[in-house]
Amino acid sequence: MGQLSKHIRILEELGYEYLYLEGGMADITEEKLKELEKIRKEIQECKKCDLHKYRTQPVLGEGNPDARLVFVGEAPGGDEDKQGRPFVGRAGKLLTKLIEEAGHKREEFYITNVCKCRPPKNRTPTPWEMEACFPYLKRQLEIIKPKVVCLLGGTAARAFLGRQVSITKERGSVINWNGYILYLTYHPAYVLRNPSAEQTLLEDIKKAIQLAYSD
Ligand code: SF4
Repeated sequence: MGQLSKHIRILEELGYEYLYLEGGMADITEEKLKELEKIRKEIQECKKCDLHKYRTQPVLGEGNPDARLVFVGEAPGGDEDKQGRPFVGRAGKLLTKLIEEAGHKREEFYITNVCKCRPPKNRTPTPWEMEACFPYLKRQLEIIKPKVVCLLGGTAARAFLGRQVSITKERGSVINWNGYILYLTYHPAYVLRNPSAEQTLLEDIKKAIQLAYSD
């Protein structure tokens, strides 16, 4: 129990509000949290691309550092930029709702973006901005070691695959990439604009979760 209290205190200090426990605290290591925190500090100082000029604060990501599934969007929006948390605006609320409809909790997974700073007027990040920021995401994945990375939208998919992706044609694709399983689906913001796609996004989230938990 002493060890558990220590872990919880570290998580609280790092700003974690939720804790999802799977198979005991042994899976949540101090090392992972410390490594993620190092990245948080680095991005606070980062000026590798022009997006640093427009941010209120960078948004690292949040969730279970031992997640089997990581959701990746393209970049923070206005709400995320203000709060310093990923997927907390309308699109984020939809993502959270769909995860719950799939029978899970948001805190069970890790949620982040390709770019850690908000692009002006929420424009799509440029390929150069994504390339500049990608090493941070790559390090997050190396620390968390998820089985599945669910790419939300064509922009996130492009950052991983290095090519244009038509998400309406390629959603549902399962791609092996550097030891991870990539699962491509819609960005929840697309679903807000196209409500008929909500059921498809829900089914995709269920499939990504299924893949993450299958041995
Ligand atoms: S978007 Fe990424 S690379 Fe660009 S300034 Fe922010 S943290 Fe640095």
